[in-house]
Amino acid sequence: MAKKKLLLILPHNKNSFLGGISKSGKSGFIRLGLPTIAALTPEDWEVEILDTRVKDIDYDAKVDLVGITSFTPEAMHAYEIGDGFKKRGTKVIMGGVHVSAVPEEALKHADSILIGEAELVWETVLEDLENNDLKATYKSDTMPEMGGWPLPRRDLMDRAMYTSGFNTIQATRGCPFDCGYCSVTAFFGAKFRTRPIAEVIAEIKNFDTKHFFFLDDNIAGIPKYAKELFHELAPLKKTWGSQAAITISKDSELLSLYHKSGGRYALIGFESLSEAALKRLNKSWNSPDGYPESIRRIQEAGINITASFVLGLDEDDKSVFKNTFEFIMDNKITSAMFNILTPLPGTRLYEELNKEGRITCRDWGKYNFSEVVYEPKGMTAKELQDGLHWLYRKTYSTKNILKRCFSFSPDKLFYRLAVNVSYRNKARKMPFPENFYSKG
Ligand code: SF4
Repeated sequence: MAKKKLLLILPHNKNSFLGGISKSGKSGFIRLGLPTIAALTPEDWEVEILDTRVKDIDYDAKVDLVGITSFTPEAMHAYEIGDGFKKRGTKVIMGGVHVSAVPEEALKHADSILIGEAELVWETVLEDLENNDLKATYKSDTMPEMGGWPLPRRDLMDRAMYTSGFNTIQATRGCPFDCGYCSVTAFFGAKFRTRPIAEVIAEIKNFDTKHFFFLDDNIAGIPKYAKELFHELAPLKKTWGSQAAITISKDSELLSLYHKSGGRYALIGFESLSEAALKRLNKSWNSPDGYPESIRRIQEAGINITASFVLGLDEDDKSVFKNTFEFIMDNKITSAMFNILTPLPGTRLYEELNKEGRITCRDWGKYNFSEVVYEPKGMTAKELQDGLHWLYRKTYSTKNILKRCFSFSPDKLFYRLAVNVSYRNKARKMPFPENFYSKG
């Protein structure tokens, strides 16, 4: 009997300068959502993964089901793809963080929506399809345990598509903090779930690259688990990076194991230098007064920091860009990424701004953290947009890159320069508002 065919599609956001396609025509980060769905699909299905950043879609392809995932900035493209297949009578199911937040909207462009994580419902979806009984929505009542699942089908991804010469993996899901602007808690639940360490290690052992990245939102959310994981990781002699919370700085054993196990950098959400703003975001465990000491401890442990900041909070005025720039330079932070405050649907921030009538744009394609989609309080939307460009261009000028890279210990200089050059290439696509601070 001929196998049924499942086509899994990753849409893209044509507007975003981040996560796009490089000059070489290749794309960046390897996302695991679709390889995970592919792994959950029974063997009597043939599965293809199509990354629209590098390959065109054939809407006339003979497939039994199209599955589309998306983050909010890609949602408009996801909808366009869903409409294209539906028009030709091909069944479409959508899932992922965005459609889980706005299922009614997404359902206009699909036959079915999968809300939340797929593990516990995917087989039911396929059985229902085969029985001609596909439901409008699927949602599992509980969050899946993280152990015992098949490994993501990385073999279905064309690795030549990706510039990053490394693998990605997930050891934990969920987050108990529920910061106002973040969709992680709503999607992955309000507690950390951890994979059995032996499974994580076995997966990493099979990687064909020395370097990899944990896709976890906070690899050290449970310090005991993280320490055990890092302990097991060390003999593999791999190098890796992850997102982590600033709280790792408080635990010197954790920092030491992070580094010994090959952890070379941490992407840390500082978000704001304003205590009041952090409090309102429900992130007051981040303390600006303590930042310099935390940064020193992390960097002295040999871990480079990529600091993430949110700009345009209600407490921010035009001075936020200059203050943030000076903070990065003063603390010799390796690199930083800057995000315009973005009210992702499904977050408390979205509800608040929506209630206040301050959302000015609902084109999800612009919800890419680099465009202004709401009315800021302490400056105009144009100032916020220009300020983002000013900050990127200042932080990644050659002079400032060299100042930061060479004033830190010479260890890992190559890494620091490479990551800065990568951000610099992005920054140079933005206009530099020369007189930003002289215009009053
Ligand atoms: S921003 Fe980070 S700490 Fe806050 S809820 Fe999201 S994942 Fe958790």
